[in-house]
Amino acid sequence: MADLDYEGFWNEALVQLRNDLGEEEFCGWFSDMKYLRHKVSNANENSIVVGIPSIFHRDKVNSRYLNVITSKIKEISGQAIAFEMEISSKTVKKPASQPENQEQSEQINTKTTEKTPKPKEKRSQHSQMRDDYTFERFVIGENNNYAANAALAICKNPGKVCNPFLIYGGVGLGKTHLMQAIGNSIHENSDNHVICVSSERFLNDYIECIGQNKMNTFRNKYRQADVLLIDDIQFFTDKPGVQEELFHTFNALLDAKKQLVFTCDRPIEDLKKFEDRLISRFGLGVKADLQPPRYEERCAILKSVAQARGVTFQDDVIDLMGKNIASNVRDLVSALVNLIAYAELMNKTITVEIAQKHLKNIFSAPRQANLTMDNIIRVTAEYFGLTPNDLKGKKRSQNIVFARQLAMYIGREMMDYSTTMLGQDFGGRDHTTVMHSIDKIKGKLITDPSLESTLEGIKRAIKDFGAKY
Ligand code: ADP
Ligand code: MG
Repeated sequence: MADLDYEGFWNEALVQLRNDLGEEEFCGWFSDMKYLRHKVSNANENSIVVGIPSIFHRDKVNSRYLNVITSKIKEISGQAIAFEMEISSKTVKKPASQPENQEQSEQINTKTTEKTPKPKEKRSQHSQMRDDYTFERFVIGENNNYAANAALAICKNPGKVCNPFLIYGGVGLGKTHLMQAIGNSIHENSDNHVICVSSERFLNDYIECIGQNKMNTFRNKYRQADVLLIDDIQFFTDKPGVQEELFHTFNALLDAKKQLVFTCDRPIEDLKKFEDRLISRFGLGVKADLQPPRYEERCAILKSVAQARGVTFQDDVIDLMGKNIASNVRDLVSALVNLIAYAELMNKTITVEIAQKHLKNIFSAPRQANLTMDNIIRVTAEYFGLTPNDLKGKKRSQNIVFARQLAMYIGREMMDYSTTMLGQDFGGRDHTTVMHSIDKIKGKLITDPSLESTLEGIKRAIKDFGAKY
């Protein structure tokens, strides 16, 4: 059996499946698969192992096509050969500029094991992006499927499709990860010049260059990009100068067919005090939102992050965390990392009891009996020598406005409340007013380092207050 051409069986199966299923369906599920190896189990059973880009793809292929695939392989090989899938980086790492069909035909026609030409020289890690923010580490589910597929399409053809691309959604849902996955993939697989910056970085560069009369330096730097990624553009709200400059950069790069990707914490139309012409330029491209993951997706993310860290969890531990941490992916990942660190430190196997005990605070944090918006308002007001009604009312004196903005910011952070809910707690304010207040504090946190400790002080007082009553 060892001399059977398993890879040949697989390639032939792909050709026939493309024919049977039609181009559209085939491309949706099969075009990103890659033959990995042939495996023989202890019971002497043969399997073909194929790489697939995500758990989402794997589960869908399992439920929809497993029988079709195994019968096709049997038909071609005359043998009962099992079919297995592995989440594999090989499936998404493609030369970004390589046309899809070229790769497909190479994959199907060649019989040798070394099919794809070796990349010239592996480029070193890009200094502006995290090396673990890749597609391989990004779990695709129904909550982010549209955004992730657009991102993968961009990697195959940067500048040609979905341009500009805006990823938006709430905190901790994977915007930065997905944007950098695009950057990392293009950087790794092509010679394209990728620039990835936070909005703060872009703004600071701009301010510095204006100050030194070096706008040409600024323009040269950003307009050299083949791919420009800017994170959290809501930060440009209320900053007309940098918006104007962004608009020009935007136009210059789009005209030159360079790829633009941005992230934002809300739909672009909700950005108040944002130039209309800038907003309308986004209409030329694709906007995709990320939704909070549902239970199944939360479990898939937990398994994937654990696997990436070389740890396997029992299903009941995954279930416990998946059920109890529903706010966003960031909280989910940090709880998991926390638990792994604890287990390693204590040299313990993670059981459901240990997880329950160790994560007790995290599980109950957003729902702590005394952690209410009323208490947050009360303690913050007290901290500034004000009353809760001052914060909920309409007074506009500087100290009241500041305390109100801080209380909103804390409410968002500690309670994970939506801006609409917060607006209701603050005397029926509009959600955009709340967003604006939160942005103000975010801005001040950058320019005034002492604010961080004020904030920590108030949060401590809120927790103490909750513990007392
Ligand atoms: P955002 O920019 O939307 O606030 P991040 O991109 O910083 O969120 O993501 C927060 C954390 O959650 C990061 O550790 C990131 O790797 C992880 N994460 C988010 N979405 C996913 C996903 N779909 N699969 C795996 N990890 C994810
Ligand atoms: Mg982010």
